[in-house]
This record gives sequence, structure tokens and C-alpha cells, in this order.
Amino acid sequence: MSKFRPILSGTCPKCGKGKIFETKGSLLHLKAPKMHEHCSECGYRFDKEPGYFFGAMYISYALAIAELFPVFFLCFWVLPLGWMFALMFLVLILTMFFNFRASRVLWIHIFHE
Ligand SMILES: [Zn+2]
Repeated sequence: MSKFRPILSGTCPKCGKGKIFETKGSLLHLKAPKMHEHCSECGYRFDKEPGYFFGAMYISYALAIAELFPVFFLCFWVLPLGWMFALMFLVLILTMFFNFRASRVLWIHIFHE
């Protein structure tokens, strides 16, 4: 089994079948993504200990920077500074739940033994 398919599909690092996230979250309804505690297929525990996902914030930060770089370079010479920062803030808001899910999925897969 490829290592990348479960990461891209957000599934369990052990069996590759059970979904890690129960819901994707919704900006319109102000609902954060919700995780399963265990894999529905093999019982693998996703949240190993309190504070386990603290390190996933660094991945989320790196993702946000990677998303903001193109916005910055495309808008720096075109838009006034205030509009550019407003656009960057909008991009951050729109990608926030994606970054949340992607960083946790990556974190789980990085530290899967
Ligand atoms: Zn599993």
C-alpha cells in the first residue's frame, strides 16, 4: 500500500481504510472539523495522549505560509498594502479548516509507529 494514498484521503495510517475525520467542518455554520477517537476498521487510536496534536500546529503554520506566499507575490506589486493583507487574511480564513485537517492527518502519519 502506498504511504501517500491514506494521507491524501485522510484515512488511518495502520489500515488505510477508516476515516480520521468525522466531519470536514463548515465555515458557514461555524463548526470545526470533528475527529474520530479510534479507527472504525482496526481500532487504531488517533489521539494518543493529551496535547498530542500540539506539534501539528507547526505543520499548520507551514501550510499557511505556503498558501500565503503566492498571494503575497501575486498581489505585492498590484494591490495597495492594506488590500493585500486583507486578501491574505481572507485566504487564511478560507483555508483554516483544510489546514487543520491536513496538519493533523500529516502529524498522525508522521508519528505512526
Ligand atoms: Zn485503521
